[in-house]
Amino acid sequence: MPIPEPVPLVCRPTPLHPLPRLSRMLGLDLWIKRDDLTGFAFGGNKGRKLEYLVAEALAQGADTVVSCGAAQSNFLRQLGAACAMHGLRCVAVAMHLPYEPGFGQPQRGRLLESSGNILLDRLLGVELRILPDGSWEELFSAAERVADELEEQGRRVYRIPVGGSSPLGALAFREAGLEARRQDDGFQAVVFASSSGSTHAGLAHAYAGSHTRVIGISCDPEPDLYDTLEELCAGQDRLLGTSVGLRRTDFELRFEAVGSGYGVAERPALEAILLMARHEGIFLDPVYSGKAFAGLLALAEARDLPQRVLFWHTGGTPTLMAVPDECWEDAGA
Ligand SMILES: *Cc1c(COP(=O)(O)O)cnc(C)c1O
Repeated sequence: MPIPEPVPLVCRPTPLHPLPRLSRMLGLDLWIKRDDLTGFAFGGNKGRKLEYLVAEALAQGADTVVSCGAAQSNFLRQLGAACAMHGLRCVAVAMHLPYEPGFGQPQRGRLLESSGNILLDRLLGVELRILPDGSWEELFSAAERVADELEEQGRRVYRIPVGGSSPLGALAFREAGLEARRQDDGFQAVVFASSSGSTHAGLAHAYAGSHTRVIGISCDPEPDLYDTLEELCAGQDRLLGTSVGLRRTDFELRFEAVGSGYGVAERPALEAILLMARHEGIFLDPVYSGKAFAGLLALAEARDLPQRVLFWHTGGTPTLMAVPDECWEDAGA
């Protein structure tokens, strides 16, 4: 497939501005890229990927999209909105708390099983098929079975991998990186939440050969994320006809902020959310951007950050409404 003409979903460029009070407190020149403000379905980094993914679904003549993720997934919410806009049926196979078997399922801080993105999916008419909790691999094969069944029923199905992390999704984020470089190319580091990989792979491709460190704070304990990043960068090279050729050792992916696993609300992230809210009036989320900001704070504390830093806000704020009260109390709110 050639690169499709993207369908417009996101208002761009998203704002990029300084964080004066946090800068003073941390002794950094800290800025923020506001992909929480895409203007699309409560914002977030998935809108950019969906401009390409939905374009490809339409180009292939699909009438149904099948994807998967956690039930509180920001990706599934934005996918649901994009499908609604284009008259596509959206089937999402989900688990409340899928986990990495070698790492085990987190025991505390589960998000609520209503409200947040689950409510928004319902309003959008997403067919959310929730399975009992299990491993990510089980979730992926269940989604594959659902897609096969729908095809047997005569539907024309477009399959989207978790988080929209196909080479096209990464390409969309490469463009986001180029957009930020046009706004201000003087950052010594860019810090953001990383999970399914296409945000990181796209930004790494966009900043390749520059002096900017591209630091992904992993929100997943997945050991094979480096392979995914390498594959997604190779995929971008194929699509673009370039040969940037990023290898696993080229990626800076930090696992210190993962905590007890993916998808739960834990204290360091909640405290980072409070710090951002109470200094800059900006909301982060418990699963991704809060963890990423907690990771940034830990790097600053360890003096492992340069002076001029861009924090990339990837969105996710609807899950703030799905954090149980006792978790906030525990974090001092
Ligand atoms: C999906 C998501 C991420 C991670 O992006 P990937 O491309 O999956 O690595 C980060 N932040 C938020 C809010 C997200 O929803």
